[in-house]
Amino acid sequence: MKKIPQMEPWFDEAEAEAVAAYMRSGGWITEHTQTVAFEQALASFVGAEHCVVVNNGTIALVAALWAVGVRAGDEVIVPNFTMIATANATVLLGASPVFVDIEAKSLGLNDTLVADAITPRTKAVVFVSFNGRAGQVRQVAALCQARGIALVEDAAQSLGSYSGTQHLGTLGVVGTFSFSVPKIMSTGQGGAVVTNDDALGARLRRIKDFGRSRGGIDTHESIGFNFKFTDVQAVIGLEQLKKVPTRMKLKRALYARYQEHLQDLPAVELIPTNLAETSPWFIDVLVPDPDQLQAYLAEQGIGSRRVYPPINEQLAYGWAGYYPVTQEVARRGLWLPSAAQLTEEAVDRVCAAIRKYYAAVSQAAGHETGVQKQVV
Ligand SMILES: *Cc1c(COP(=O)(O)O)cnc(C)c1O
Repeated sequence: MKKIPQMEPWFDEAEAEAVAAYMRSGGWITEHTQTVAFEQALASFVGAEHCVVVNNGTIALVAALWAVGVRAGDEVIVPNFTMIATANATVLLGASPVFVDIEAKSLGLNDTLVADAITPRTKAVVFVSFNGRAGQVRQVAALCQARGIALVEDAAQSLGSYSGTQHLGTLGVVGTFSFSVPKIMSTGQGGAVVTNDDALGARLRRIKDFGRSRGGIDTHESIGFNFKFTDVQAVIGLEQLKKVPTRMKLKRALYARYQEHLQDLPAVELIPTNLAETSPWFIDVLVPDPDQLQAYLAEQGIGSRRVYPPINEQLAYGWAGYYPVTQEVARRGLWLPSAAQLTEEAVDRVCAAIRKYYAAVSQAAGHETGVQKQVV
C-alpha cells in the first residue's frame, strides 16, 4: 500500500518552467527585480505596506528583533511551545528568551501570562500564531502597546490565516514568515518580514544588506548583515504564492475532514480551530499515547510527527520551570499527515487506522480491568 507521508513538498511544472525561463534570461541569480516582484506580491497578499524577504524564517526573526532594537542583555518573551527558532533568534542577538506557557484553547500566548512575565528589561514579545490560530494576538498586541513593548509576530505557520479579516503577521509592529519546505508555500529556504511602519521597513532593508541604503555602494549608515534572498527563489515563490489561495481551501477542507472522522473518538482531542479564518498548517491532535499511536501508524505506512517538546526542557536550554499547558500538549501531541495535496481517500485511511487502533486499545483495557479485578 502507498505510504502516506506526514508532509511533502508540492512543486510542479509551473516552478520548473519559471526557473528555466529565469536561467535563460541571463539574470545574476542573486536578488534583483524578481525579488522585488515577490516582495510586492507578498505585501499585497498579506496587506502590509512593506515586505522584506530574507534567507529563512529564523533570520527573519533575527532581523525583526534587531530592527525593533533588541540588543544584548534585553529580555524577549517567547512561548515555551514553538519551533525552537523563535527562542534561538533572541539568543543570537545576545538577548535572553523568557519562556511563557501557552493557553490550551489556541496553543498560543495569552495576555495574562505575558503581563506577569514583563520586567523592566523586556524589549519585545514574540507571538507565535501556532498552526495559523490567531488566539489572543489582539489582546497581546494591546498589552504590548500599552506597555511600550514591541510585538513581533512569528507567523511562520500562518500564511493564509487571519484574525477576522486581518492577515496574521500584520497585527504587531512587525511580522515574520518562513518558506521552508514544510510550510504552506516554499522557496526551499526563505523568509519574509512585513511591517506597516515606514522607518522599520527602511531599517529592515539596511539590516539585510550590510547596513547600506542600496546595493553597489560601500558606505554604511548602520550595522547590517547579509540576509539576502535570490531571484531563483523569487521566481519559485511567485509561482507558489499563486497557489496559496487553493492550498488554503485544501488545508481547511483537510482539517474539516479529520474533524468529522475523529471528533466522536474519546481518545482523540482536536484543538478548537475557526476554519473561517484559519488555514491549519498541520493537523495537530492530542492523544493519551502518541508514541504508541505513531508506531502503529508507521506499521500501516502512515507518517506522523511528535509535536515540539517544551523548549525549556530541550538539552539546548535545560532550564527549570513550570509550564503545565506546554507540558501536557507536548506529552500528548501528534501531527497527522497534513500535506495540502493529500487525497480524501488518504485522510479516510488515516482516520480508519486511528479508529482501529483505539478500538483495540479499549478492548485490551477492558481485558486488563478484568484481570486486575481477579488480582484484587
Ligand atoms: C518554521 C518556523 C520557523 C523557522 O523558519 P525557518 O525558515 O525554518 O528558519 C520559526 N518559527 C516557527 C513558528 C516556525 O514554524
